[in-house]
Amino acid sequence: MDFSLTDEERAVRDTVRSFIQREVMPLEAEVLRRERAHQPGLDHSEVRELQLKARKFGFWGLATPEEYGGMNLPAVLQSLIWTELGRTFVPFRFGGEADNILFHATEEQKREFLVPTIEGERRSCFAITEPGAGSDAANIRLSARRDGDDWILDGEKTFITGGHDADFAIVVAVTDREKGARNGGATAFLVDRSMGWRSEFIQTMGEGGPASLIFDGVRVPHRNILGEIGQGFTLGMEWIGKGRYTIPSHAIGIAERVLQMAIDHANTRETFGAKIGTNQAIQWMIADSETELEAARWLVLRSAWTVDQGLDPRHASSMGKLYGAGMVNRVVDRVLQIHGGMGYTRELPIERWYRQVRLYRIFEGTDEMQRLIISRDLLRGYTKIGGHLA
Ligand SMILES: Cc1cc2nc3c(=O)[nH]c(=O)nc-3n(C[C@H](O)[C@H](O)[C@H](O)COP(=O)(O)OP(=O)(O)OC[C@H]3O[C@@H](n4cnc5c(N)ncnc54)[C@H](O)[C@@H]3O)c2cc1C
Repeated sequence: MDFSLTDEERAVRDTVRSFIQREVMPLEAEVLRRERAHQPGLDHSEVRELQLKARKFGFWGLATPEEYGGMNLPAVLQSLIWTELGRTFVPFRFGGEADNILFHATEEQKREFLVPTIEGERRSCFAITEPGAGSDAANIRLSARRDGDDWILDGEKTFITGGHDADFAIVVAVTDREKGARNGGATAFLVDRSMGWRSEFIQTMGEGGPASLIFDGVRVPHRNILGEIGQGFTLGMEWIGKGRYTIPSHAIGIAERVLQMAIDHANTRETFGAKIGTNQAIQWMIADSETELEAARWLVLRSAWTVDQGLDPRHASSMGKLYGAGMVNRVVDRVLQIHGGMGYTRELPIERWYRQVRLYRIFEGTDEMQRLIISRDLLRGYTKIGGHLA
């Protein structure tokens, strides 16, 4: 068994790390200042400028096939890169990406939606959640009714990331109520904002926020169906599947960064005439954090490796998402504690991370849903204890 990175993995990881350190981290103070003034940390054109700079370095379209100008990287490499991105709170990600399910588009749809999204000329959002259907996504109600060559969409989506800025939405709608969403009764549509849906921004405890999308008799041409009629739920699960290893990969980067801050603080802050790091109470918080961080790292890398092997990644990635999301919440909480009163202030970004990572236990499958998947696999005998080594 070999736990080391290959030379290529190490080289890519190190190049991304130096890009983030040189080009992105210097923006942190300004991002914090703007966010405290209730402005976006970076505006769209600034993110784009950084993305184009990264493109010159060769970082463009991590998951995008080469025929669309991307890098088509293996999942393990993508996971390592997401970890590097997690080391800064600046809201930056590499460009040249599109929602994974947009690659199911027809040639015409690719020209209209996929390619402009990859190029950063159009912005997408993915919408399955509704006010009455989150974890229970099969319970969606937003309906699409056939009318000649068109479909008429009625209903509401909620908590849609990027929904307030998107030019178009990938919307999973009910096309056959009798069948039910899970059994071929849901279909995905590509719906331009100009077709008439509207969005309402939702304030959250984090920076930025998702939106509700309202569809009131929105007419969508038949040619805007993504994939097949009845394939909507499957596509939705495919979209969500990607986040199951990228989210905890990001969490690992956050935990690495904040834990180092805690170590530095423990080695400098003095109370009762000694560094606080000489206290066992502080040492144990550091030790528990490092142990959990390492455990999360290997769970998550294994789930990405499972993707690269062409194996069913769901069981492994549910464990990675569950543990990685919990780990980063516990680590940030301990790091805040080690910083005492300063940890609670807005002079340091720790409270910002504290608010940000709470989301990781909720979106793209809550902790409880991951536990449901993991236990169901075992109870049904689909997965053996010990996973692929069993
Ligand atoms: C900031 C943000 C961004 C998001 N982005 C998107 C997006 O881009 N696109 C999109 O479609 N959705 C998005 N979501 C929606 C997100 O995926 C849902 O919020 C999430 O799946 C939970 O659904 P819910 O909020 O309806 O909670 P509910 O499903 O109502 O669950 C409430 C609580 O009950 C628990 N629970 C539910 N059922 C069970 C059960 N059977 N057993 C045990 N516990 C259970 C849940 O785990 C949770 O703790 C986003 C959400 C947020 C907050």
